[in-house]
Amino acid sequence: MKLPSQPAGSGADADGPEDRLRRFVTIWSRAVFPVTATSMTRQEFERHLLPPARELCDALHARPFDTSPAHRVGQALVAAHCTDPDALSRSLGVVDAYLVLYCGDEGGTDAEELRARCSRLQHAMAAGFAQALRERTLAEQESIAHSALSARSAAELALHATESRFRAIFDGAAIGIGIADLDGNVLEVNETLTRMFGGLEHTVTGKNLLEWSHPEDGPHVWRLYDELVRGERESYRVEKPYYRGDGTVLWTNLTVSLLRDAAGAPQYQLALLEDTTERRLLNLRLRYEATHDALTGLPNRTLFFERLEKTLLPGGESRFGLAYLDLDGFKVINDSLGHSTGDRLLVEVADRLQSCVTAPGEMVARLGGDEFVALTTGPGSERQVTELADRMLAALATPISIDGRELTVRGSVGVVEGPAGERTAAEVLRSADITMYRAKSAGGNRFEYADEEADARAITRHGLTTALPAALERGEFFIEYQPLVHLGDGSVYGAEALVRWCHPQHGVLGPDRFIPLAENTGLIVPLGRWVLQEAVRQARFWQDEAPGGHPATGPLRINVNLSPTQLHHPGLVAETVDVLERSGLEPGALCLEVTESALIGADDDLLKPLRQLAEMGVDIALDDFGTGYSNLANLRRLPVSVLKLDRSFTQGMQQHPVDPVDLKIVEGIVQLAHSLELAVTVEGVETGAQAQQLRDLGCDTAQGWYYARPGAPDRIRSLALVDAV
Ligand code: C2E
Ligand code: CA
Ligand code: CA
Repeated sequence: MKLPSQPAGSGADADGPEDRLRRFVTIWSRAVFPVTATSMTRQEFERHLLPPARELCDALHARPFDTSPAHRVGQALVAAHCTDPDALSRSLGVVDAYLVLYCGDEGGTDAEELRARCSRLQHAMAAGFAQALRERTLAEQESIAHSALSARSAAELALHATESRFRAIFDGAAIGIGIADLDGNVLEVNETLTRMFGGLEHTVTGKNLLEWSHPEDGPHVWRLYDELVRGERESYRVEKPYYRGDGTVLWTNLTVSLLRDAAGAPQYQLALLEDTTERRLLNLRLRYEATHDALTGLPNRTLFFERLEKTLLPGGESRFGLAYLDLDGFKVINDSLGHSTGDRLLVEVADRLQSCVTAPGEMVARLGGDEFVALTTGPGSERQVTELADRMLAALATPISIDGRELTVRGSVGVVEGPAGERTAAEVLRSADITMYRAKSAGGNRFEYADEEADARAITRHGLTTALPAALERGEFFIEYQPLVHLGDGSVYGAEALVRWCHPQHGVLGPDRFIPLAENTGLIVPLGRWVLQEAVRQARFWQDEAPGGHPATGPLRINVNLSPTQLHHPGLVAETVDVLERSGLEPGALCLEVTESALIGADDDLLKPLRQLAEMGVDIALDDFGTGYSNLANLRRLPVSVLKLDRSFTQGMQQHPVDPVDLKIVEGIVQLAHSLELAVTVEGVETGAQAQQLRDLGCDTAQGWYYARPGAPDRIRSLALVDAV
């Protein structure tokens, strides 16, 4: 990182970390010194800031990251009499602008991470500052109250107190002190209190407390007051605003104590006022920062959740509607045009979405990244939320122009609507999220309504997906085998391995329930490897049991399904060879089934591993043929030796009379396949009539319930042996 020019004469080691730290301290003390009440000189003050600066610098790089040093730095500011809120905001400004610049070099933490850490350190600093300030004021109040009490017990009436200790505190206190009679007439105030009210004594002394009500006073404020002047309570403490003479508002922490005379009868009230106006503003600002997104200024996730939770309370708003928007393809823009363009795009999107919320009670927030959410409440929310979602999509319709470039952004919206009091905020948001994904997978640039069934499906899907890896480790998968037969005589020549999952809660799940999930997560690779190993081992076992196999068909063969992801996996050939070698099964006894759709448009790179396997003698079957609309002429390019005609063709053979066009199609496919020297297997044969029909059409082999359902491996052996006898 290139640093700004060093001050002249800063020595040979001008670029050392220590010099940079000192430079940071100089900037910090210059910024803060003018607003401190310290008796130190500026040089002394600068030396004083060095240790806290070092703490911040160390905290920036510490592993693990910890914000407590910054909290202590905030407290140290108060201890150094930097109690003016301006001292805090200036300090935060310096840390924000210079800490990473001057202290970010060592440690090898990346820039993004440093920025994130720096802003968390600032928050901790502000919190430490606020806490220390509060404790300090409380301590001061404590000592004043204590003196007042001792003055009282000495029966030296506070009003005419000659007791020097009380008088000294009264005059010199940093908090406002006033004494009034029981009718509320202000008798005496100290200088601080006068200053708090604007500096003119007559605006305070001689007034009556009852004139100082404020619309924001809680009802308890004046109830406590009444109880005190009636002698029913000794003291109370409230937060109370006052109007100053010029109409501005002074916020205070007010503590009032009752002073009694020597005989114990109520006589005066003593008020201690701590000015909390600035701190309130600071808190408001911190609260604003904590609840708003720094980039777009929209309410953030925290604030949105607060609002949603409030809306969903039973007995709150009657209904709610929520529209959850995620930009389509934002990542592409961000990656290709850079983050700063991405940021500007988000700001513009935020502005447009903000203009969509028009009714009172509606809000739009940024949840993070490119996710936004709008909320509407009230009895008409069903109609309102639809209109809101419409407006949001419409707002994105016009391209966004950045640096002369017109960027088109679209969004997908998940809409959830319903009565309050039934679901938690997290549940509602999860449903919206799932629904948004449904809108996305339907092509994006649209909205969808949440639907409980779709939610439930997605949730089970999610549950199954996350359970998959452990299931493989725990051995919850098993394989069923379905015989493959010759159509001519019905003899069994092999079997297809079909995987199942014995799920501890859901029972046995078919592959259609989990293979797509395993595909998405990549778990299909280890799962497929396991199926291959297991099936090949089983085939070898059958062969060992009946060497030579069936007299006509030879040793039993095994078919194993390959998913598209496995096809792309670089280890496919080596692993298959390894599995075959370990088991001792000859490659010609293995057939890998690949779906037609996985090979549509396949280029030579993708076909290469299949070609290598085919050259070794492994059969490749084109599974589900006829569903992928592949170009028949393409078949010639593919290293396949078997076509597996999809079940839908066989189903056509069920009807009476059979559609002659169907027959012609199947006949054509069979002829074409044979001319390319491919064998044709038909799937899903359920009746003898179908088998007859397909045999007549020239199909070679078959699979289906008519012969056997998928089952345990022993079943195959017995079927094959019965055959052989
Ligand atoms: P597929 O390869 O087309 O497998 C044939 C499917 O048809 C099997 O369903 C089988 O049980 C079913 N079937 C067999 N005969 C009949 C019949 O006469 N009538 C009817 N209606 N159906 C019949 P299954 O076992 O549910 O498998 C579904 C799909 O899951 C398979 O379709 C295959 O694509 C995939 N699959 C199964 N095991 C694996 C595996 O180990 N790896 C991969 N990647 N996919 C697998
Ligand atoms: Ca198959
Ligand atoms: Ca199939």
